[in-house]
Amino acid sequence: MSKKFVERITGMDEDFAQWYTDVVTKAELVDYSSVRGSMIIRPYGYALWENIRNELDRRIKETGHENVYMPLFIPESLLQKEKDHIEGFAPEVAWVTHGGDEKLAERLVVRPTSEVLFGEHYKNIIHSYRDLPKLYNQWANVVRWEKTTRPFLRTLEFLWQEGHTCHETDELAQEETVKMLEVYAEICEQFLAIPVVKGQKTEKEKFAGAKHTYTIESLMHDGKALQSATSHHLGDGFAKAFGIQFLDREGKQQYVQQTSWGFTTRIIGAMIMVHGDDRGLVVPPRIAPTQLMIVPIAQHKEGVLDFTYDLKERLAGHFRVGIDASDKKPGWKFNEYEMKGIPLRLEAGPRDIEQNQVVLVRRDTGEKQTVALEGLEETIASLLEDIQNSLLEKARQHREEKTSVAVNFDEFKTQLEEKAGFIKAMWCGDQSCEDKIKEETSATSRCMPFEQEQLSDECVCCGTKAKHMVYWAKAY
Ligand SMILES: [Zn+2]
Repeated sequence: MSKKFVERITGMDEDFAQWYTDVVTKAELVDYSSVRGSMIIRPYGYALWENIRNELDRRIKETGHENVYMPLFIPESLLQKEKDHIEGFAPEVAWVTHGGDEKLAERLVVRPTSEVLFGEHYKNIIHSYRDLPKLYNQWANVVRWEKTTRPFLRTLEFLWQEGHTCHETDELAQEETVKMLEVYAEICEQFLAIPVVKGQKTEKEKFAGAKHTYTIESLMHDGKALQSATSHHLGDGFAKAFGIQFLDREGKQQYVQQTSWGFTTRIIGAMIMVHGDDRGLVVPPRIAPTQLMIVPIAQHKEGVLDFTYDLKERLAGHFRVGIDASDKKPGWKFNEYEMKGIPLRLEAGPRDIEQNQVVLVRRDTGEKQTVALEGLEETIASLLEDIQNSLLEKARQHREEKTSVAVNFDEFKTQLEEKAGFIKAMWCGDQSCEDKIKEETSATSRCMPFEQEQLSDECVCCGTKAKHMVYWAKAY
């Protein structure tokens, strides 16, 4: 019965990239548009984003930030102001050269990120320490002209939030940078059930124009890493480029210390690749647009539809509930909602109604159980909780299994070949070793984790004195 339907999705182990494409399109998360590398986010995909966004927005506001909106266009001269920043972004910006028929006197960039727009604005509104801190956030779309693209993971245009803050001191900016990284980690682990490694990027991998970049890194089902969000301590580089100064408590002119941090629709790609299986998506209950789908069985029989609609009404006050009373076969419905990753399915037919019971089926394990109508809310709530926790636990185990330690370069190469995943190894701090590792293995440094371990005294690449333990992996 279900065979034919499932065949529409390529097996994960057969071709992971094709599996991913099948899932994002067949679960109706996205559609392709006529512009290469741009995606249409369909209602189911957008509902997922809205649930993630709402949770994150709540935490951004709880930590004292205000939402603002900056323009879409940046004049070329403004982007040029911070040298490292323009060098980092120049290869992937989209230019606007004409307004209607008229050639513009100055080209405009479609924002790839908004540091310079915030910089210009902050210069105008910050004058004294009394104006600090400034804690702004914006929800927006940005454009980066990527060469190779994949839905959610890398697209020409994507949705995100970008926080931009100004502080009196370096310490306060540092505190903010790490605080927001913790917020991101919490969203990933508690809502998306994605375990993350928190750490600092190397100089080579940091954000263009930043003093330090912090990151949360997660591991996908295929053993590749995904940078899941970043938070940057910008120092006073942008402040100096834009002249953002304030009169400090002693009456002296100082440059502000800034941060910026971003979280994007990319995380939906991570959710798909961490939890999905051969039947399709698996969506963690806390962000699932529909947590429970009711499928009436033998719905043409008297009382079944009334019963299931009453049930929907009863449960809707507690959960995000759907019902499919269409004339499609139950087997089709089972497969469809499994593919969409809906955490729980509720089945009810004439015999269940007679016996005051329903059947609940978990998406993550496929486990089926008959439960009493009495106390159904409690049963469902605890099942959803258990699914949420199990997904995080399973992802943690997967990551542990796919994390190895290497103390020399030969070991590094063998491990990467034998078992795709994270490799923990010591590093001397020299970029030439980082370059060599990338060149010979195509693994990149993901981060220097906050939780450092002394695995050996020598750099895995050159054998000189090691300075940091680094997570390495092939990455998306
Ligand atoms: Zn080295």
